[in-house]
Amino acid sequence: MSCFEGHVEELKNVSIDYFENNNIYSKTFFLSHCHSDHMAGLRSYTFLNRLKEEPQVFLYCSEITAHILKSEKTFTDLSHKIRDLLIGPGNLVTIPGNNGEEDQDVTVTLIPTGHCPGAVMFLFEGDVSVGHVLYTGDFRIVLGDAAKFKQLHYSDGTVKEIDKLYLDTTFLSQQYRDFPARKDSIAIISNFVALWLAKGEDHHVIIQIPAKYGSEAIFMMLAKQFGMKVHVSDEVYNIYKNMSEIRDAVTNDTMITRIHACPSLRRLYQKNGELTLLPCRVDWFKLVTIRPCALSFTSDMYKGNLESAVLRSEEDNLIRVCYSCHSSHEELKYFISYLKPKQIKACVVPLRMSEIQTLNMLRKMCLPIYGKDNMPVLTVSKRKETPSINVSPKANNVKTLEECLSDEMEFTEMPSSSQTNVSDRRSLKEYKDNMESEEEEENVVEIKSMSTTDVLQTDADIYRLIAEDLQPKSGDQDADIRQSMSLAFLQAAVDKKKPVIYN
Ligand SMILES: [Zn+2]
Ligand SMILES: [Zn+2]
Repeated sequence: MSCFEGHVEELKNVSIDYFENNNIYSKTFFLSHCHSDHMAGLRSYTFLNRLKEEPQVFLYCSEITAHILKSEKTFTDLSHKIRDLLIGPGNLVTIPGNNGEEDQDVTVTLIPTGHCPGAVMFLFEGDVSVGHVLYTGDFRIVLGDAAKFKQLHYSDGTVKEIDKLYLDTTFLSQQYRDFPARKDSIAIISNFVALWLAKGEDHHVIIQIPAKYGSEAIFMMLAKQFGMKVHVSDEVYNIYKNMSEIRDAVTNDTMITRIHACPSLRRLYQKNGELTLLPCRVDWFKLVTIRPCALSFTSDMYKGNLESAVLRSEEDNLIRVCYSCHSSHEELKYFISYLKPKQIKACVVPLRMSEIQTLNMLRKMCLPIYGKDNMPVLTVSKRKETPSINVSPKANNVKTLEECLSDEMEFTEMPSSSQTNVSDRRSLKEYKDNMESEEEEENVVEIKSMSTTDVLQTDADIYRLIAEDLQPKSGDQDADIRQSMSLAFLQAAVDKKKPVIYN
């Protein structure tokens, strides 16, 4: 979970991924992706009012992120204040000065991060006071990826000097040395789905996704392989229905499928040790729950072979499959050694680590890369005390169940069992009431706690792969499931080519 305070020291009057406290007085805002730990304060009355009232104040993000935001009622009246930037070419953004200060021009380049739809890194380039600053947001960059991004290179192919890197350090710990490529994780998931569905028409599968966005490649693969769309909530469906690559893989009609990724409640109710209540149908079925997750798969667990990327719990009929949307320890090390930034700020204090431990781990990682006489300046964000609560003007300071479910959470270990035996005599209402309160409680606890050829063409190819056959090409193990952009948007970016100038 991001601990980043929103300020990039090199840029005055700018806030990124944090819209609370003094940050709201910024003149220019950036949002890297739509996960709630990067959206603190974004729906607050104060922020929305500032965006509305200040003619020069805008929120910048990728086209898909803008699309997701604009589909929310909260932003309906503010869609003219949300400016989408192109992926690929640099975008010239003018940051208005405060009280007579001069405006500042910066080039902002968006780089896809493979984390969830629309997720991007921001590369800021400006005069000497700005230099080259790279903010990764959340990312899964695998070994070899950095070399493929044209945006990180000068036209002669040499790597750009990065003065400061703001880094997603979610899996900085040596405990998470490697993760499988997501295509392998998806293949495992689809095998389990195949085995279960083959047992009979009364067998359903729940894919227990860790965040509202980020599992689209799984849905696409399952829909393709089984000719069966994945059931998702109405809210998510309404967003996907305008994304051509994902649209055909999902449905909001629970009756036409046996694969569910609707906001499935964490605690499922079982009777006779066999049948389980399917939350979206209010019927009893034989269920298996498959949970793509990464936290459970430390290096003791995941040994690099696919057998060890699975954790089965027979009694719960729960299968955890290692699937990560954040870079592993080794992938972070690769990224740092490729760019060799002069300064690095860790934006995530990993679970079970303190700020000091995070800094020490980063130092340990950098030492062999830089040598002890050339170490970069290392800093770390402060762990946030309590989760921020996003509220719209009409709401109180309370998260709804739906908002909790929409948060990005890595699932931690289940309390004891994911399924609870209940007597048949209890009413359906009792089941549902119980499920909702238990779900809310659990969520509240958890929230605390390229070769240097044309990058646009490469990413367009990546999406074509998803749309066509999900088979990787040219030895790129993970690229086939990069989830950052839709092909249509990419194609638009390729067609436009020219930078967009905002002033
Ligand atoms: Zn995220
Ligand atoms: Zn469902």
